[in-house]
Amino acid sequence: MSINIILAGPRGKMGSSAVNMILNNDKFELVACLDHKNENKTLKEILPQFESDIPIYTDMDKLFTEVKADVFVDLTIPEVGYQHTLAALKNGLRPVVGTSGFTEDEINTLRNLAKEKELGAIIAPNFAVGAVLMMEFSKQAAKYFPDVEIIEKHHDNKLDAPSGTAVKTLDLINSVREEKTQGHPEEYEVLDGARGAKSHGVHVHSVRLPGLVAHQEVIFGGESQLFTIKHDSFDRESFMDGIDLSINKVLELNELVYGLEYIL
Ligand code: NAP
Repeated sequence: MSINIILAGPRGKMGSSAVNMILNNDKFELVACLDHKNENKTLKEILPQFESDIPIYTDMDKLFTEVKADVFVDLTIPEVGYQHTLAALKNGLRPVVGTSGFTEDEINTLRNLAKEKELGAIIAPNFAVGAVLMMEFSKQAAKYFPDVEIIEKHHDNKLDAPSGTAVKTLDLINSVREEKTQGHPEEYEVLDGARGAKSHGVHVHSVRLPGLVAHQEVIFGGESQLFTIKHDSFDRESFMDGIDLSINKVLELNELVYGLEYIL
């Protein structure tokens, strides 16, 4: 039996790659898409590369009333992605969320709702397996190298900074590292923001440029040594294996999982 899927954000870079992955997987059935334009159109009318008549909805409530599905995939923007995910859970669908930028409060609200409804949900700041390993290895390294800075680089259409991946990396590093002020105790910024954002003393620098996709370096400094862990996503295809895996795994869960590492 196939897994029925609704996807939000089909015209986006991630969304269109995910549509392609879903349509090419025999176990998956794309049953509808949620957009904020193109009401009453079909997928092939908005994305002619796909020979598919599945309907496009712009009204979330109408969509969840008229279309039954197992999994809801969100690849949009944080403000609406959160509302979509909340509504999906309320309607008994299991969300797989790639949209980054949800606040801690929002994630906790979704976690509580998933628990109450006994529904699986997966929110992954990064669906690339290599990026998940980068985060895990950074956690290991932070035990031995407390001086660490993160440089994350993304395309210039990205709304949130630092990236969800950087925030998740910080959480993992801070779970094993004592809070520590880095750099010279009397250092000062000649230009505001020169030392980046700070979380428990770890500095994070966000670069936004055309040409980039998703890249992150975690740099650890020690006595006469430097240890760098680096991951590059050169194309959105690098995220599709993780989304495929999450769609399958979310059906086995009855709670919210934040991070791909918990299902690998
Ligand atoms: P994108 O190309 O800008 O796509 C976002 C799409 O969402 C656009 O098609 C946009 O439509 C659409 N959208 C905006 N408001 C909407 C609404 N109310 N309902 C439905 N769709 C709506 O961005 P992207 O690169 O694909 O990234 C999408 C999201 O995934 C971002 O949050 C990004 O940070 C995240 N991301 C996650 C991963 C991961 O591995 N977890 C990897 C890469 C990116 P318009 O163009 O008409 O505004």
